[in-house]
Amino acid sequence: MEVISLQSGSNGNSFYVKVAGKQFLFDAGISGALAEKRLAHHNRNIREIDGLFISHSHRDHSKSMGIFHRKFGHPVFVTEKTLLGARRDNKLGVINDLHLFHCGETIDFGDVQIHTIPTPHDADDSVAFVIEHHERRLGILTDIGHAFDGLREVLRLLDAVIIESNYDPEMLRKSRYPIWLKRRVSGDGGHLSNDDSAIALKTSGADNLQWACLCHLSAENNCPELAVETHRRLLGNDLPIHVASRYDVGAVLTIDYNQPSTGPWQLEQRPTGKTL
Ligand SMILES: [Zn+2]
Ligand SMILES: [Zn+2]
Repeated sequence: MEVISLQSGSNGNSFYVKVAGKQFLFDAGISGALAEKRLAHHNRNIREIDGLFISHSHRDHSKSMGIFHRKFGHPVFVTEKTLLGARRDNKLGVINDLHLFHCGETIDFGDVQIHTIPTPHDADDSVAFVIEHHERRLGILTDIGHAFDGLREVLRLLDAVIIESNYDPEMLRKSRYPIWLKRRVSGDGGHLSNDDSAIALKTSGADNLQWACLCHLSAENNCPELAVETHRRLLGNDLPIHVASRYDVGAVLTIDYNQPSTGPWQLEQRPTGKTL
């Protein structure tokens, strides 16, 4: 399985995954031209994508889904509420190849499964994704609100993870953001801090993780060095930690199938996206 971050942050998100001969994009928050160019950098053709999945309606994830569909022929996988929300905030235009899914549903592509995990972010039907092939799993967990019930169990079953590490609490506290925005970011429907992400990884028993890639870093309230340092402090130096850039395409990250597998996808507790 191969993964490339095309960009991640409040200025736009998109991730590429290739597995078992199939290619997917997760989120369309950057322009079509930029996505095409960044995939071409790694010799990938954006017209060969088998499915575009949208995590939630916020513009930095959804704004170009209509363009990706019309320009590159992508089938679009989205929930009804996310589509409605995205239409409200963007000029999406006509989408002819729509595949509506429900939060929590698994979508099958032969021997590849895409699990959708409901998250408590402040957009209706917000989901995270787990991409599975032969009991190998990548999580794309961004804009997840807080460390909700079930998050650690999901982390424990992953071989690699792209996880939100949005802000440093001290930088956010001192920042120029108005108080309402500070509350929104750090609130239950906002974003994970560096510490939230590191603690969730540390306490989940995710012993099979081959690497973690920190994503959706704030430009104002975080910096890559600090995000990595916070994770290193809790997790030690053994786990490779990457950072998804706000400004550029990342390297090709891979899951090594020779490493031990985490076993079947069996969640004791079905994530609801809520903390009771
Ligand atoms: Zn976002
Ligand atoms: Zn969001």
